Amino acid sequence: MTDALSLAWADAWIRDAQAVLAEHRMELIDLDRAIGDGDHGENMDRGFKAVVAKLDEGGIDDVAGVLKLVASTLMSKVGGAAGPLYGTAFLRASKAIEGDVDANGVVALIEGALDGIVARGKATTGEKTMVDAWTPALEAAKAAAAAGETPAATLRAAADAAAKGAEATIPLQATKGRASYLGERSIGHQDPGATSTAYILNAAADAAEAV
Ligand code: ADP
Ligand code: MG
Repeated sequence: MTDALSLAWADAWIRDAQAVLAEHRMELIDLDRAIGDGDHGENMDRGFKAVVAKLDEGGIDDVAGVLKLVASTLMSKVGGAAGPLYGTAFLRASKAIEGDVDANGVVALIEGALDGIVARGKATTGEKTMVDAWTPALEAAKAAAAAGETPAATLRAAADAAAKGAEATIPLQATKGRASYLGERSIGHQDPGATSTAYILNAAADAAEAV
């Protein structure tokens, strides 16, 4: 697979994700203020800055190694629900792939991430969580890979579906996580974790298009 995504892509993805999460820190804080405790933007910004500091130390030699580093760093540095959820997601993603990542590898990576989130948080679709972004992302990635798309196009399809999925959380009532305490008052706001998922997958697609 000449166009398989390598270590350079994974490194660029995580650095792009860090920059985008830093840029959208206030937006994620505001979204979490509306239906949670307002820490999501800070959690994600701090977590990904710590990940990039670890990447700068070097010593990682493949995509799975990058994903594993993200997992362990987010688990240890990020509190709240999102730290363990994203930590488990990246850990399962790292175990789901080997070597460079072709279109089917992109599917496996996203499937691993979603499986990890569901194993950890026990949410299903329609509960106004990050699952509502990862699930359509996986479906779109599967369709793109089956149609013979490149890894970059597969990631782009996943990222676009995640963004739509995040937007589609607005009319939903939260039934998992902190936002569920609000009951019907959670309706009318976009879920912060679904939003950060869309940014992270968009960064993955951007990085794939750039390498
Ligand atoms: P906390 O809710 O502990 O303050 P964060 O604010 O960092 O943690 O993250 C909140 C996000 O975590 C929510 O927007 C939602 O997407 C996600 N989340 C919360 N509980 C679950 C769950 N059980 N399954 C999946 N995602 C969840
Ligand atoms: Mg919060």
